[in-house]
Amino acid sequence: MVIGGGPAGATAAALLAAGGRRVVLADKDRHPRFHIGESLLPRNLAIFDRLGLREQVHALGVFKPGAEFVTDATGEQVTFSFASGLDRRYTHCYQVPRAAFDTVLLANARAKGAVVLEETRVVGAAFAADGRSVVSARGSQGTVRRFAARFVLDATGRDTLLAGQFGLKTADKHINSAAVYAHFRNVEARTGEHAGCISIHLAEDGWFWMIPLPDGIMSVGFVSGPAAFKSRPGGTGDLLFERIAASPTVAARMRAAELVSEVTATGNYSYRSSAAWGEGWMLIGDAFGFLDPVFSSGVLLAMASAEMGAAVADAWLDDPAAGRALARRSERRLRRSMDELSWLIRRINDPVLRHMFLHPTNRFRMRDGLVSVLAGHFLYERPGYGLPLAAFKAAFYLLSGARRMGLGMAAG
Ligand SMILES: Cc1cc2nc3c(=O)[nH]c(=O)nc-3n(C[C@H](O)[C@H](O)[C@H](O)COP(=O)(O)OP(=O)(O)OC[C@H]3O[C@@H](n4cnc5c(N)ncnc54)[C@H](O)[C@@H]3O)c2cc1C
Repeated sequence: MVIGGGPAGATAAALLAAGGRRVVLADKDRHPRFHIGESLLPRNLAIFDRLGLREQVHALGVFKPGAEFVTDATGEQVTFSFASGLDRRYTHCYQVPRAAFDTVLLANARAKGAVVLEETRVVGAAFAADGRSVVSARGSQGTVRRFAARFVLDATGRDTLLAGQFGLKTADKHINSAAVYAHFRNVEARTGEHAGCISIHLAEDGWFWMIPLPDGIMSVGFVSGPAAFKSRPGGTGDLLFERIAASPTVAARMRAAELVSEVTATGNYSYRSSAAWGEGWMLIGDAFGFLDPVFSSGVLLAMASAEMGAAVADAWLDDPAAGRALARRSERRLRRSMDELSWLIRRINDPVLRHMFLHPTNRFRMRDGLVSVLAGHFLYERPGYGLPLAAFKAAFYLLSGARRMGLGMAAG
């Protein structure tokens, strides 16, 4: 049984069903439904290919050739083109309206043979010592149904159903940010070779995303620490507009902007579960952990961990001992990948890291290595990838030390 039909749940259900397993997927909502998380990474293309969905994603998204960083401090701007990464197999991806994207993924799970139940909220799961479970779900009419599942994949996203039920969820004390976001029209879009890039605008105490979507829509969001979100009389809408006005580089692109959605806020949002699996269950996607979205990693992590979860479930159903061994390896790999990315995320407001992003050097292939991280290759072992990243980290510590000793950035 798969609980949740976002990118993680729909991917796992499709892979298991395609492999001949009997799968039931329950989602509390009816698709299409709004979801944030619209900017995807090149490494995702490999998973779209595996699911047979590359053409459909291409048709519903905006072509994304890279990522642009802009700083409010000086107005400087740099664009990282995915084509210059160490791995040249995947050199672009897409910005997608998630309502349409998630609907395509869920329809694919259904087409592959999974039984998909929408408007069906799972309210709890009880596990016997041998891992067999009874999952209880309430339908839209209020009727409760019980499913005897031999393996459960929890893909409930930030609802973190099982991590909550088992008390496994721990907040990331290093990344305690929140976000406020909305959709707009008439926002100045990038053109030419930079058309379709995500823009990350670095403000003094946080950052903005600008993600171009189809039909002239621009997704705009602001992310910062708790101080920026202290209770405000005007609410989240006022906060977003105040912050846009206070950012010279964002305000310049939004002079004629028109709000076309509600303004939404998401608070206190980085966490991880202390365990990724147990007897008869595994957590995938945001149900396992959530990283600050500055590098647009969420959907890739969701779909890649779904590939791992599907493989674990498949192995477990034949031989629980083999399933456990694979679950252990998968958890280790997932944690290592998330740690790799967290190293950068934790430093995104650090002046030294910002300087290195805005003035990238390709000594030791540092810039190409960074592009590979931005393209999503942090999830997979790649030969030649370790040295550029180690050099980047070493340069960061050297520059930070020089700065503490009162030497300028140029000292690096
Ligand atoms: C502010 C913000 C900006 C982001 N920007 C990006 C970005 O640009 N790029 C990116 O890749 N990621 C981004 N993300 C992250 C991205 O949204 C998530 O990582 C991604 O959606 C995770 O997929 P998932 O399938 O694990 O969970 P979800 O997509 O959240 O899907 C979970 C599903 O489970 C269902 N569900 C929940 N509880 C139950 C239940 N009890 N019973 C049945 N069904 C249930 C829900 O209805 C939902 O459909 C962002 C996140 C935030 C908060």
